[in-house]
Amino acid sequence: MEKILNYINGELVEPINGNYFDNYNPSNGSAYSLVPDSEKADIDHAVAAAKEAFKTWSKTSKQERSDILMKLADTIEKHSEELIIAESKDNGKPESLARAVDIPRAPANFRFFATAILHEHSEIHEMDGVALNYTLRQPIGVAACISPWNLPLYLLTWKIAPALAAGNTVVAKPSEITPMTAFLLSKICIEAGLPKGILNIVHGHGAKVGDPLTTHPDTPIISFTGGTVTGKHIASVTAPMFKKISLELGGKNPNIIFADANFDKAVKMAVKAAFSNQGQICLCGSRLFVQKEIYADFKQALLDKVSQLTVGDPKKESSNLGAVVSKAHMNKILGKIEEGKKLGGKILTGGNRVILEGNLKNGYYIEPTVIESLPFDCSINQEEIFGPVVSLIPFESEEEVIEMANSTKYGLSASIFTENISKGHRVAANIDAGVVWINTWLLRDLRIPFGGMKQSGVGREGGFKSLHFFTEPKNVCVKI
Ligand code: NAD
Repeated sequence: MEKILNYINGELVEPINGNYFDNYNPSNGSAYSLVPDSEKADIDHAVAAAKEAFKTWSKTSKQERSDILMKLADTIEKHSEELIIAESKDNGKPESLARAVDIPRAPANFRFFATAILHEHSEIHEMDGVALNYTLRQPIGVAACISPWNLPLYLLTWKIAPALAAGNTVVAKPSEITPMTAFLLSKICIEAGLPKGILNIVHGHGAKVGDPLTTHPDTPIISFTGGTVTGKHIASVTAPMFKKISLELGGKNPNIIFADANFDKAVKMAVKAAFSNQGQICLCGSRLFVQKEIYADFKQALLDKVSQLTVGDPKKESSNLGAVVSKAHMNKILGKIEEGKKLGGKILTGGNRVILEGNLKNGYYIEPTVIESLPFDCSINQEEIFGPVVSLIPFESEEEVIEMANSTKYGLSASIFTENISKGHRVAANIDAGVVWINTWLLRDLRIPFGGMKQSGVGREGGFKSLHFFTEPKNVCVKI
């Protein structure tokens, strides 16, 4: 089986203890590669390399950093097809989705931040002829970048790119469940001639690698995307060390359909928001609130559309949904569906594992599932499921839906469908979410402040917000 290796100080290296664990292909349930079972010693090695590289990289001019990262983007693009196939094999997502969404975002992330640093400007505060204050924004040191399995390369590069562009060096820890495209990225970095030590990638289990990384005295800055429970842990262990942290966490996002919405557009987007990437996107609209006047018609149109979705081989263009990421995650989702039934939920469609034929029979496939009749405040409508499961909830008034939408501990994103633009603005302003879409879903502009409120996160990433996060402002006061 192919061995994934750590990438430290510009070289591909074995974990120091020589141990590995299996990496599974979710489409057929078989192990197909080995992942380094790294530990503290590997983190210490990577952080030392990154700390040394910081001395030079932080002093490298912005133009030169930009040129190096642009070259990396070009090299990633050259390997797009290989990355698409690898991402789908590692994660279970359809290749068509990796081709349209995941992989193009990796070079786009590098180009976006490689050019952003050339256009940044600093602030000046004048004191009426007495003094002039100006603000320097300086790189901080070694950034720890920790990413999840749902959009592996997309989210890894979303952190690495601004950290490096801003002049920091990086030790990254990709999810142990989907390490393959991070490994391919290491090889691409070597091919592109990335300076040694500025990016280091250490593979391994969550806490075993994550804790030594987040609590290392030489990683003053931490960018984490993942679950709320892990985020809480990282916040608690790093707070006494006064580290700068950015947390992008879970969501239970409302998708609100008013009676005056463009009906066909709302149905189409509701299906996309619920089932894209098998429902494993932090922004998925998993609570579907529909106004009573159109509830019956909307439900029927939704079920018609869902019946046209194909769960199948991620390699086939015809597959709308592939496999979910792991056996454990599949069982968790099926368990949540059972819990929903016990709570009185009615399964309108789906609810079961799908067994495909031939060599895919052991893959982790689940039918797109629609549940109704569950109270808005029950566990199924409050906790993140992170699978192809959407709950339909009727509502009467604007006030009522705002209250129900805001009832969870999360506050990541929301979508609102209405042709009454004043109502759209009003509801958007009253929803607890860091990102709100009106008449669309997941339309991303990389410049916007992206992130969640409540237990969906701390801080914002995107555009100059990311560059600000990865730099320390320093005020210089000059007496005139
Ligand atoms: P997770 O929290 O289990 O793991 C995320 C990463 O953290 C992995 O690399 C994991 O190995 C690592 N980790 C685990 N324990 C750690 C520790 N003690 N210290 C440091 N790192 C540790 O999350 P997941 O299951 O991989 O991803 C799914 C979750 O991510 C969902 O909740 C989803 O909503 C969330 N997510 C959020 C966003 C966002 O932008 N807000 C985007 C994508 C995914």
